[in-house]
Amino acid sequence: MHVWKFGGTSVGKPERMHSIRSLVTADAGRKIIVLSALSGTTNALLSIGESLKAGQEDEAAEKVEHLKAHYDSFVRELYKTSEGLAAGQQIIENEFSFIRSLVRIRPFTLKQEKELVAEGELLSTQMFAAYLNEQGEKAVLLPALEFMRIDADGEPELDVIEQKLRDILKPHADKQLIVTQGFICRNPRGEVDNLKRGGSDYTASLIGGAIRADEIQIWTDIDGMHNNDPRIVKGTFPIRELTFDEAAELAYFGAKILHPSTITPAKMRGVPVRLKNTMDPEAPGTLISDKKAESLPSESSVVFKAVAAKDNITALYIHSTRMLNAYGFLRRIFEIFERYKTPVDMLATSEVSVSVTIDNTDNLAAIQAELGQFCQLEEPDYDQTIVCIVGNFSADHPGIASQVLKSLEGIPIRMISYGGTENNISLLMHGKHKAEALNALNAGLF
Ligand code: ASP
Ligand code: MG
Repeated sequence: MHVWKFGGTSVGKPERMHSIRSLVTADAGRKIIVLSALSGTTNALLSIGESLKAGQEDEAAEKVEHLKAHYDSFVRELYKTSEGLAAGQQIIENEFSFIRSLVRIRPFTLKQEKELVAEGELLSTQMFAAYLNEQGEKAVLLPALEFMRIDADGEPELDVIEQKLRDILKPHADKQLIVTQGFICRNPRGEVDNLKRGGSDYTASLIGGAIRADEIQIWTDIDGMHNNDPRIVKGTFPIRELTFDEAAELAYFGAKILHPSTITPAKMRGVPVRLKNTMDPEAPGTLISDKKAESLPSESSVVFKAVAAKDNITALYIHSTRMLNAYGFLRRIFEIFERYKTPVDMLATSEVSVSVTIDNTDNLAAIQAELGQFCQLEEPDYDQTIVCIVGNFSADHPGIASQVLKSLEGIPIRMISYGGTENNISLLMHGKHKAEALNALNAGLF
């Protein structure tokens, strides 16, 4: 069985929904289809929530009606029969009457906000499943809220998901097309929650891992993962094959095509992930699997595969107040980051100092206060960017670091991390140098 996920732009227009119906039916295999909300909907729902939090109920109500008008005209083009249209209109009436009821609830809390933002995926999947049924396809809608579960830390519980999915899929053995919502889930309190922005990719991978799918396909509007950021660099090209580790680094360090956690469940269960383009379904896209580059004859000589960048990074410079040869220093530092659930992305050490970068600064003040009890801290650097270069950097291959640094000759670099794995070099620089660095690396490495 396959899991196919379609993003917001792939379902964002009635004609796009028509073409994904052709895509999912042209291929004979049984599949679970994970959908995002129609493009723009999640932002619109969040914006309604912002108005409500600001006490602007009239503004929120106006935004709701504006969004509803969009759906009203969408369904008129989506369905081909009057029965289909009636079913679609009923879905919209139901969901929008719930949305209107949320607008009236006081106070509007985080719980309501999550229920509100979940409506995007609830709408898109019901509309699409009704369309498949109108077209006579054997399709069923599986409610993600009945099997997608996160723990108290917001981490998906793969075993629970696997068990629940198995049970909920049992009665549908005869169904070829199983539609479900991306992004949304329930937390341990049983409330509606989500997997963070862009989380539908993650849903697809969690389902693919849970059912040990033959393949997970992520359908977007670009022809695979590119070797560099196409918004900043001209002449980028899609990478045909990546290992799980390479893809995970790229997704984590800024490649916008995938939610950063997507690769983890797929890698754990060894399920290949294929990135495909809805606008150009014949294009090969990118295949992410555990195949090492060495076994790929066409790419065996590739050293540099791709570059990605992650913004809004904060660098902390920490000095030991004790003298040389102090041990246990790193442990004490990292315990603090652990306690505040703050991941460290990059690290550089000297005998008496450690520099680290973090992305999440929610607890920065508390972390600084605790570090300050046994370390000397310099003023952090804000607005930094990590530029990450991914490839097969075998330790025996000479000249890799020098080629990277040579390309970046004119750019001040604050930190370098090399050797953490054989497929990543990360560099920290001020965010204002990012575009120049990505272009320089494109010229120097590819
Ligand atoms: N609709 C959600 C978002 O816009 C999830 C997704 O599209 O992946 O973030
Ligand atoms: Mg996305």
